Amino acid sequence: MHIYPIFIPRMGCPFHCIYCRQEDFSSVHQTPFSVLTEQLRDFCSLHRQEEKQIAFYGGTFTGLKEHQRNEYFRLAEPFLDELTSLRISTRPDYLGREELDWCKAHRIRTIEIGVQDFSDKVLRASGRGYDAQTAIAACQRVSEQGFELGIQLLPGLLGFDHESFRESAESLQRLSLRYLRLYPLVVLKGTPIWEMYEQGEYTPLTLEEAISICADYHELADEQGFLVIKTGIPPLEPGIAHAGPYHPALGELVRGELLVRKLTASYKGEQILRLASSDLSVFTGHNGYNRKKLMKRLETCTIRIEPDAALAKGEFRLESA
Ligand code: SF4
Repeated sequence: MHIYPIFIPRMGCPFHCIYCRQEDFSSVHQTPFSVLTEQLRDFCSLHRQEEKQIAFYGGTFTGLKEHQRNEYFRLAEPFLDELTSLRISTRPDYLGREELDWCKAHRIRTIEIGVQDFSDKVLRASGRGYDAQTAIAACQRVSEQGFELGIQLLPGLLGFDHESFRESAESLQRLSLRYLRLYPLVVLKGTPIWEMYEQGEYTPLTLEEAISICADYHELADEQGFLVIKTGIPPLEPGIAHAGPYHPALGELVRGELLVRKLTASYKGEQILRLASSDLSVFTGHNGYNRKKLMKRLETCTIRIEPDAALAKGEFRLESA
């Protein structure tokens, strides 16, 4: 699916969430409609024969006043056809009957909900302004009414622990979601959570904790049949990420963790590990982060890693040395 993102940073949001600096990810938000129209024309003509979406990201789309929503719809409307639809992102507490009726009438196909966590304890501590039941009910309404449901989670919010992870994982299993985005919380300079961190009132996840939690969600996605389409926040300008599990290639590290878990479960002594050539970088990249991890988990064994052109991405073979 090709996506043309239009950022509306923090527009429609009822307040400023404690961790959010959405403007850092949304430098194009001042782009005039005339320029956006030209860019949409180019995008749609480039992908004329392919499925694609125009997406409104970075704010609370259904929190916008109706006339603002209508303006954005009119911007996109000339480009909508059977291969081109709309996607929005919003909050669970802005998906009542009126908002969903509007979405139905304006050809929204996909609704991404920034749930962030399904634990009441975490939602309360982080001041999100809704509870788990509100989030679950919003997700159910979205899928029951025929929209494609995406969920964003933010592991590592205030109050996050094993129990809250379990609650979120269980909630996901009760929902008909199409895809998940994972954004482990990174402390960004200038946000309220940055001040809490500076005063010792908040401890972010370590990088390894974030990798492990994201890998758990990926395994759940495989079991339950939904997709994880994003792991980690987009690359930031130097100096903005102050603390927490920021890594520009977090998704790759999580892929490595998943492979290491599978290998650790299959490994039976001194063996040669053969990997798809395209997966070699999982072990050689990032200063050998995943190779060191594998060696640590199989510390009494030696393992040789060799490429095998016959293997597809994600496949591996263990052979006697
Ligand atoms: S609702 Fe989303 S975009 Fe709006 S302030 Fe909160 S985190 Fe930022």
